[in-house]
Amino acid sequence: MIDLVQPVHLPVPQDVLVGMTTRSGGVSEGAFESLNMGLDVGDNPDHVRTNRSRVWKSFQLSEDVLAKPEQVHSARFNLVQSPGVFPATDGLITHESNIFLTIQTADCLPILIWTHDGEWLAAIHSGWRGTEQRIPAEVIAFLLSGSGYSPHEFFVWIGSGLGVCHFEVGPEFASKFDTQFLNNRNESLYFDNVAAVYDQILRQGIPADNFEVVDECTYCESGKYFSHRRDKGVTGRMLAVIGRQN
Ligand SMILES: [Zn+2]
Repeated sequence: MIDLVQPVHLPVPQDVLVGMTTRSGGVSEGAFESLNMGLDVGDNPDHVRTNRSRVWKSFQLSEDVLAKPEQVHSARFNLVQSPGVFPATDGLITHESNIFLTIQTADCLPILIWTHDGEWLAAIHSGWRGTEQRIPAEVIAFLLSGSGYSPHEFFVWIGSGLGVCHFEVGPEFASKFDTQFLNNRNESLYFDNVAAVYDQILRQGIPADNFEVVDECTYCESGKYFSHRRDKGVTGRMLAVIGRQN
């Protein structure tokens, strides 16, 4: 059974798919058990292909409608007018139907954005490097200037990622991020990526009521999510997806 984590409170247009996979419902084994969606992480490629086809089937999608970024922890993003693979980018935006934007994560945050009518859609990959380079703010700014829509017409869903409970960082983070996004516990420093992303988008004018944060830590929820940090780099990937049919 494919389990998709989806918005609970925000309105999603009927023809729009928004959500992220968990680790349940696939055929991969060991560290990749079981729904690993990542091909280049050391898993058996046949298992990944089976996992992917199960996911596409459960959402009635075909592989040829997917837009896949080759994520590099940057602030670069693309406005896409066709499906396919997009090199060296961490955000995809589209105004077209039948293009499903995807993001792979295993601690970094997937951020999915849509307008109330589903006409504009975006997917962002933001770990601490993306957040530091302000990709969430840059994508929202682009949408606001290019779409003609107002901030209150956008909805923002922040999926599951590494929580502040487990995001231990070095002292250099004190010069990268405002102290409000850093937690001092037991003489260690922890980064709150969710709060930093939320703040960036809020400051672009999106009303607080238009946000939904899943607020589940990928490290804590070991039965539900892959976590790069918890599994010391040997782990699978979840897939976040947003797209409009027809
Ligand atoms: Zn945690």
